[in-house]
Amino acid sequence: MTPDVVYPAGVDERERRLAQNEALFREVNERVEAVAHQLGPDVPYEFVCECANADCTFRVELPLGVYESIRTDPKQFVVLPLHYTPEVEDLVAEKDSYWVVRKSGQAGEYVEQLDPRSR
Ligand SMILES: [Zn+2]
Repeated sequence: MTPDVVYPAGVDERERRLAQNEALFREVNERVEAVAHQLGPDVPYEFVCECANADCTFRVELPLGVYESIRTDPKQFVVLPLHYTPEVEDLVAEKDSYWVVRKSGQAGEYVEQLDPRSR
């Protein structure tokens, strides 16, 4: 006998961990941003790479205004070129110094909940 409705089993554990890493980096960038605000929206500033690799310590350089526009979507993250995990996210934009990725499916919903701005 099969149930009428199949409920999603929740975000897969590995996906969840990857998503959590990115959400953590984003929290760091919230603090970076407070400093960047003093420089104005057009001055390139070093944000931390928000990729899924918890050990990544690289910086991504982009102006606050650009970072802000990426952040208007809570499922979007800014990463270094090639720091992209196709199994949990889609590539949205490819620039010379950074890429923009967007979490899809349940990982997307999960990071949306983790967004400090949506709390
Ligand atoms: Zn990275």
